[in-house]
Amino acid sequence: MSFESLGLCDELLSAIAAQGYTTPTPIQTQAIPVVFEGCDLLAGAQTGTGKTAAFALPIVQMLSETVLPAKRRSPRALVLVPTRELAAQVSGQMQNYGRRLSLRSTMIYGGVNIQAQIERLHRGVDIVVATPGRLLDHAERNTINLSKIEFLVLDEADRMLDLGFIDDILHVAEYLPSQRQNLLFSATYSQSIKQLADELLDQPRRIEVARRNIAADAVIQAVYPVDRNRKREMLSHLIRKGEWNQVLVFTRTRYGADKLTEELLFDGIKAAAIHSNKSQSLRTRTLAEFKRGELRVLVATDVAARGLDIERLPHVVNYELPQVPEDYVHRIGRTGRAGKDGVAVSLVCQAEQPLLIAIQQLLKYPIPLQTIAEFPQVAVKRGVKAKVGKPSRGSSRPKQKSAKVTKAKPAKTKSPAKAANPRKGKGATERPVAKTGRRGSRS
Ligand code: AMP
Repeated sequence: MSFESLGLCDELLSAIAAQGYTTPTPIQTQAIPVVFEGCDLLAGAQTGTGKTAAFALPIVQMLSETVLPAKRRSPRALVLVPTRELAAQVSGQMQNYGRRLSLRSTMIYGGVNIQAQIERLHRGVDIVVATPGRLLDHAERNTINLSKIEFLVLDEADRMLDLGFIDDILHVAEYLPSQRQNLLFSATYSQSIKQLADELLDQPRRIEVARRNIAADAVIQAVYPVDRNRKREMLSHLIRKGEWNQVLVFTRTRYGADKLTEELLFDGIKAAAIHSNKSQSLRTRTLAEFKRGELRVLVATDVAARGLDIERLPHVVNYELPQVPEDYVHRIGRTGRAGKDGVAVSLVCQAEQPLLIAIQQLLKYPIPLQTIAEFPQVAVKRGVKAKVGKPSRGSSRPKQKSAKVTKAKPAKTKSPAKAANPRKGKGATERPVAKTGRRGSRS
């Protein structure tokens, strides 16, 4: 299958070629024709599968068939996303494709001044990529006209539900015209997603791409058993010895992310944290530094990491296992993206064994165990601030035996295809979908 055979116009084909894509991914092959047909779509696909282009390309092409003068433009496509980072990623693609066809897109999210967004909307846009809360704010202030929406996309719908956006989504839907095309993308297909789909979609076509198919093929996974209070030492050791230069590390909490960042800095490893307590401008700057290779480690919580699109991220570390097993799949999906090899390492202490078991049940295969015979103790107390680049005071401590990794290269997991099929069902954090009137009537 080629992009040409999907019926994409020349402008988009050259945009695709400029990005270096040669063949459509499975979700693109399946979804693009459905969107062109005008059907509603319920797609099981995760970040990393190429789902953004799967909806962005056909929407942009169809919108380009009618382009109005700038001032008279009201948004005709609305993409709802769970996080600002994903908004930035999706909006980037919309802009890249859209500008070749004289379409304008903008991004709307909370935590920043609303006025600039109002002005951009006032100047006229065709495509809006938004987080639900701030969008609702605009709708209620009447600073956005949603009555001309032709396409509604719910991207990472399962994560939006996890984050408690259900009421906002349904409320936003009340501002939309009833005649529209709806596309819902979700990594999992739980009862609450089903209810949301029943609420908003009209006889959708179902597409399911093999879960995490790109990552499962390309990600080498390993579990390193370690005492809880030695995790930081092991992490510093792995990064140094393995000469890992671009590492995304997951912690469960924002506090944990900040604390680990301080400790890594103390160890002389340039690191920064990204989580929802940081200002948007700081998050954007930190991410840009990480992408440019100026930061060796980015420490993130699950929420902050959603939607991060970093080309060829080679290493992902689960410093703490996630409480929700599905998040493990999301996390390791940050590496080995679009066919590139990646390594996902989990540092697991005794207390996390039940979480590991749950993850392995979800994956349906065991993650290979790796051990490190010795690794240096760190001399400093946790939480002591230090400057980047300052050598660790550990060097003044009595030296441990030289760190020796026992065959540290993790074995490739068996049958990634089988692995990529996590069980379905109601996740612990999912919320029930409140039933409201089908398709809004306010418009
Ligand atoms: P997404 O699932 O939309 O977040 O995309 C994941 C990654 O795959 C992004 O880095 C895209 O640039 C990349 N990608 C999307 N489509 C293709 C394709 N057809 N070929 C190669 N890479 C792609």
